[in-house]
Amino acid sequence: MSSYFHYRGNQFYAEQVPLADIAAQFGTPCYVYSRAALEDGFGQFTKALQGREPLICYAVKANSNLAILNVFARLGAGFDIVSGGELQRVLAAGGDARKVVFSGVGKSAVEMLMALEAGILCFNVESDAELERLNEVAGSIGKIAPVSLRVNPDVDAKTHPYISTGLKQSKFGVPYNEAVTLYRKARDLPHLRITGIDCHIGSQLTETGPFIAAAEKILLLIDALTAEGIPLEHIDLGGGLGICYNNETPPAIADYVAALLGTLRGRSEKLILEPGRALVGNAGVLLTRVEYLKPGEEKNFAIVDAAMNDLMRPALYDAFHEILPVERKVKTAPLPTPPPLAGEGAIEQRGKQAIREADARKSNSSIYEVVGPVCETGDFIGHARNLSITPQSLLAVLSAGAYGMSMSSNYNTRPRAAEVMVDGNAMHLVRERETVQQLYAGEKLIS
Ligand SMILES: *Cc1c(COP(=O)(O)O)cnc(C)c1O
Repeated sequence: MSSYFHYRGNQFYAEQVPLADIAAQFGTPCYVYSRAALEDGFGQFTKALQGREPLICYAVKANSNLAILNVFARLGAGFDIVSGGELQRVLAAGGDARKVVFSGVGKSAVEMLMALEAGILCFNVESDAELERLNEVAGSIGKIAPVSLRVNPDVDAKTHPYISTGLKQSKFGVPYNEAVTLYRKARDLPHLRITGIDCHIGSQLTETGPFIAAAEKILLLIDALTAEGIPLEHIDLGGGLGICYNNETPPAIADYVAALLGTLRGRSEKLILEPGRALVGNAGVLLTRVEYLKPGEEKNFAIVDAAMNDLMRPALYDAFHEILPVERKVKTAPLPTPPPLAGEGAIEQRGKQAIREADARKSNSSIYEVVGPVCETGDFIGHARNLSITPQSLLAVLSAGAYGMSMSSNYNTRPRAAEVMVDGNAMHLVRERETVQQLYAGEKLIS
């Protein structure tokens, strides 16, 4: 748990604001972000990279709320975008187009035009056909497109298969063995200018090994390109650093960066990183209210007002999110006396067990399946959670800042949640809860 979300007494807080106050003012379900946590994460990257003039391009798809983009823009961040829509968000949030890199396997001609007009730093091109299209589009408006090839280093990121992107069989990037040929082609296309090289091998990586292996392969390619007379200005090593959701032990940002810098020692190319999750994942929680407790023969259900449309990660990846009560039940009854037993350790063990059992009885804690109202069996937020709750209790679903709101949908005609950013003792509504009218505003009846 990030220290920006914590208990004070029995109340759960975001910075200095009780989450119960946020629920009272803005309702539930509601995403809550900590500005200090966002700034801390970004600061860890800049501190670890001091002296290198790096460009940290926040991966917008992790969480694209304008207030979050604006916090990073003010800290000097660049942005990694994967669509024209994300470019428009970056510009609307005060981001600098000259610090934008554009990734993604399916850039449309319209998106290319928009990015060329805006003057982005570079296109991370992912195929031969994309090189040709970009050359044509740039030529059609008399511009030269800055390009970097996203190379697939064929490295196993050892993460969930859905978020592993650097293996040969992946749709992402150009094959390692074809990279030099494609760079030659890019050099010869008149409306392209080669600026760098790029890789991104996956998300939620919890070891530095795969990052280093990928970086080493990219460096070998850079040497081969230099020998061909194709010098590069920058090396972009992507995002992918994992966070702790449960019991994962990802490297700290400083250690991850130090490992990369060790590999890049003696290199003069400008370094670009594209962190998403590591910057926002633990800077946000999803606040939800218990609607019903539904005891069952085999399982007890806690039906909450957030669902898979609000937080898709459990349904999509079987992902774990810690769930904590916003108000802890106060335990006031005297402690039970431990039964007499031989051996000090044993007495202690039995005593602790008795206390736990007594606590459970007093607080009526039970094991719950925490589920939403959506009509899918896959609609769950957490399995088998020991919670002491009643109907109307508030719960905080932790580590929900990345790929939470940005992956949300309107399935079951559920308006998307409100978003609130806490800054010290202030709370700011940074996105209003959607209305149902907004959801069908573009729909028409036929005559
Ligand atoms: C998703 C993505 C990122 C960010 O990944 P995280 O795991 O959130 O750090 C960076 N670069 C590219 C190209 C991506 O697609």
